[in-house]
Amino acid sequence: MNDNNVIPLQPKGPFSREAKARWDKIPRYAQMKLLENVWCTECSDITSILLDSAEMEQRNLILRGTCNKCGGEVCRLIEPEDR
Ligand SMILES: [Zn+2]
Repeated sequence: MNDNNVIPLQPKGPFSREAKARWDKIPRYAQMKLLENVWCTECSDITSILLDSAEMEQRNLILRGTCNKCGGEVCRLIEPEDR
């Protein structure tokens, strides 16, 4: 692991309390994978998300941010672990 390439896990905007609790349950390596595998419609490619905010919508965690390549808006939905 190269520390220079680590994406800051602290968002610029607020994590809601519920979103933070959900996010903290995800192992760190899985968090990185989630942040580094986001589909950008502008790039039509997998990209990294620069995290702005996170919130819960029903039972899903929604991460919002900008594409690391083009700066367009991207978001990532994380489904609940259980069903
Ligand atoms: Zn993009």
